[in-house]
Amino acid sequence: MDLRLNIAAPLKRSFGRVLDAVLPPRCLKCGEVVAAPGALCPSCWQQLSFLEPPCCACCGQPFDFDLGPDALCGACTASPPAFDRARSVLRYDETSRDLILAFKHADRTSLAPTFGAWLHRVGRDLLADSDLIVPVPLHWSRLFARRYNQAALLAQSLGTVSGKPVLPDLLMRRRATQKQGHLGRLARQRNVAGAFVLHPGRAKALAGRRILLIDDVITTGATISNCAKILRKGGAEKVNVLAVARVIQED
Ligand SMILES: [Zn+2]
Ligand SMILES: [Zn+2]
Repeated sequence: MDLRLNIAAPLKRSFGRVLDAVLPPRCLKCGEVVAAPGALCPSCWQQLSFLEPPCCACCGQPFDFDLGPDALCGACTASPPAFDRARSVLRYDETSRDLILAFKHADRTSLAPTFGAWLHRVGRDLLADSDLIVPVPLHWSRLFARRYNQAALLAQSLGTVSGKPVLPDLLMRRRATQKQGHLGRLARQRNVAGAFVLHPGRAKALAGRRILLIDDVITTGATISNCAKILRKGGAEKVNVLAVARVIQED
């Protein structure tokens, strides 16, 4: 292991903080100078597609028309998900994907407070209906390569703004799942089946609690459904889900 790298990284980080204090804040996406730190420039902001009601009362799939507060989409009517309610801040598209990939793979952990603030705004109702914030876990082998779990950073950031307790290791990944990027719905369900377990030492913290599960992106819902099943089996009274972005299935 190259020791220089280990020393250089924290130095670079603290140097970065000093620079942050003297240089003008920059757009999180394109680097344009902006008024406040943690913000996007007006043009990048406009490209983001924020999800708003009306939507499916359960999974949050947006509706073209307001069908009432309890209306469910076709998918949730046909097979009710294991979670209670899921909401996301953004539509997963090219713009949000760039931001999330930078956050996930390019060490842009400085995005966490902004994402946390967005989750807080969109998730007010869910937060009021939850006791404990829990991130979707990353397998240790991936944690080792990536050095951080993006969902855990989001959970911590949301915990800071909301004041709700965070239990980062309540759920664990028993095995490394295949990368899901190219997998279809059924393959994803198979891929995550049996992948999650409760931390044996933390499981008792779960009984009767309402959990707010955090992930970066909801794609088919296979991961969050699986986590929700495990949490319920472990005694959770409710499982709500909050994510930065979600793939919108077009009918
Ligand atoms: Zn910008
Ligand atoms: Zn739905």
